[in-house]
Amino acid sequence: MPELPEVETVMRGLTPAMEGAVIARADVNRPDLRWPFPERMAERLTGQRVKQLRRRSKYILADLASGESLLIHLGMSGRMLVSGDPLGQFTHNHPAAEKHDHVVFHMDNGARITFNDPRRFGAMDLLDTATGAQHKLLALLGPEPLGNDFHEAHLIAVLAGRNTPIKSALLEQRLVAGLGNIYVCEALYRAGINPTRKAGQLSKARVASLVPIIRQVLSEAIDAGGSSLKDFRRADGELGYFQHSFDVYGREREPCRTPDCSHDIKRIVQSGRSTFYCSQCQR
Ligand SMILES: [Zn+2]
Repeated sequence: MPELPEVETVMRGLTPAMEGAVIARADVNRPDLRWPFPERMAERLTGQRVKQLRRRSKYILADLASGESLLIHLGMSGRMLVSGDPLGQFTHNHPAAEKHDHVVFHMDNGARITFNDPRRFGAMDLLDTATGAQHKLLALLGPEPLGNDFHEAHLIAVLAGRNTPIKSALLEQRLVAGLGNIYVCEALYRAGINPTRKAGQLSKARVASLVPIIRQVLSEAIDAGGSSLKDFRRADGELGYFQHSFDVYGREREPCRTPDCSHDIKRIVQSGRSTFYCSQCQR
């Protein structure tokens, strides 16, 4: 499932193909993904210049000249493929249509963007750019972890008095937007905080220490994604899923990577999600 760094990477990969270009034609090949598409979606997209691409949490937003924004969510298995050669940056010929190619954007610069999603947990919607922050998927989101509104005082305030484990609290999108299972595990490991600790019982200093660590973990992954973008042009044009090595995530029973620690990484289940951690290094 794509997390924030993957979504950021997809957005950055789409930017040269879409930003400033006009959607000459939009093929909408089915009525819905996770939810029904908005009415007349193809018509509302056709002929629109994409002014800007941006990301909010795990959503990509394409601001259109019409004053509407296209919201794209990749869901569990959504993939974006870029083909065509608008600026000499995409070396892939247009592929033959495949099963699960649900939406295709034909840009006036020759690029083609294909949204393929076998499991159809993805979503697209159109919203007014001006009032888009009130959209049901966006209205309850907390601050962006890489933005200025996510800071030590914020995290201390929202975690104060909470009885939930710190791991579960950090996954709550209204406290901080876009953090997912993988990067929460990584951040808690780097901070030396046991994921089962009650959020409200951590000292302010320990909570504060999480802020730069969360930013760092995400930034490193985004950098890895940026490197993968250079590679993707030679591969198949698919954006967003890149190889990234994790310190604890997915390493159950492997030795802890902290120097001088002889423990193995444990896996437990919290709120139905796997947590990976070292019981020696994380207290
Ligand atoms: Zn350890």
